[in-house]
Amino acid sequence: MSSIEFDFHLRREDFSLEVRGELPNQGITALFGTSGSGKTTFLRCIAGLERAEGSKLIVNGQTWQSGSNFMATHQRPIGYVFQEASLFAHLKIRQNLEYGWKRIPAAQRKVDFDEVIPLLGLENFLKRYPHQLSGGQRQRVAIARALLTSPELLLMDEPLSALDLESKQDILPYLERLHDESSLPILYVSHSPDEVVRLADHLVLMENGSIQAQGEINSLLTRSDLSLSKLDEASAVLKCRVASHDPQYHVTYVAIDDCGLNQKLLVPFKDFPMQHPVRVRILARDVSLAMQMQEQTSISNILPARVVEVFPSNSPFQVIVKLDIGGQFILSKITKRSEALLKIEKDKLVYAQVKSVALMR
Ligand code: ADP
Ligand code: MG
Repeated sequence: MSSIEFDFHLRREDFSLEVRGELPNQGITALFGTSGSGKTTFLRCIAGLERAEGSKLIVNGQTWQSGSNFMATHQRPIGYVFQEASLFAHLKIRQNLEYGWKRIPAAQRKVDFDEVIPLLGLENFLKRYPHQLSGGQRQRVAIARALLTSPELLLMDEPLSALDLESKQDILPYLERLHDESSLPILYVSHSPDEVVRLADHLVLMENGSIQAQGEINSLLTRSDLSLSKLDEASAVLKCRVASHDPQYHVTYVAIDDCGLNQKLLVPFKDFPMQHPVRVRILARDVSLAMQMQEQTSISNILPARVVEVFPSNSPFQVIVKLDIGGQFILSKITKRSEALLKIEKDKLVYAQVKSVALMR
């Protein structure tokens, strides 16, 4: 089992990092928390940029730190992408990329120049200088440069936070592609719920230098004791697979994974092959509840569900209802008035009417 086992203790004047546990060393794991919660410090400990005496780090069974044994940063098979791309201004993009590539002996290279350049859409930039690219394009170069060092683990520290909204939108699909097309595990630091929801498979919630909770994305987003379920944008992310297409209506049906009830969702058409894994985001405020299956309605997605829990929302007149739709959870935000009228309570069987779904990849 590939994993990252860690036990870090680091004391600063007015901050201490105390984290211990195990993370999956696969897919995208997001370290999420407010500014100052210790995300960057945690990442720096993993990179060996903080010595953190008395700490321990074992990656895929290999000891990177334990007792007096401390593997230097340059010996760790990691790539690091920072908030702002630190490219060499006097070198063209091609030379910037070759810089990382040439550091690795040919026999140890696991990725090819010709794979990485199209993966990040850099074909037309190779002859340009960094100042001739937009911020988002430069960040794509920084990611490619990190990949070309053939890392076994990619560390990304708020790689989108210095970008404007448009550049963020431009770069997100490349990150999704990176996730889909390479098996490289990524630790991704972010304070943006939106990015986390789009990218992360696994989530680590940081608060005050410690880990408040960690787990699979769907289970953390829908937990009543965590702040994510109280946001205006509270949502659930469902893992699904493409089941069929209906070209006449320009829609695609996706089957919800591990769903005992064999439930399907209708989403806008997406040209993916059958069985292709996708993520579907459903906002709590887009889900209403009914006691009967509505036939005469324009809502396409109606799922039988069981009430797991009813808990307070961030608004005095609404509550959040957590629903089990056969293995995975979604949230529904309804008024307290509806809660009373419909007698919503634990274990009640209801129909979740989903007004809108977003297919993420
Ligand atoms: P985050 O990345 O979650 O915003 P950081 O890990 O950067 O948080 O910072 C955690 C805490 O450590 C903050 O209170 C910050 O002010 C403090 N800190 C960060 N770097 C240093 C440093 N080099 N020296 C002293 N304190 C620091
Ligand atoms: Mg930080």
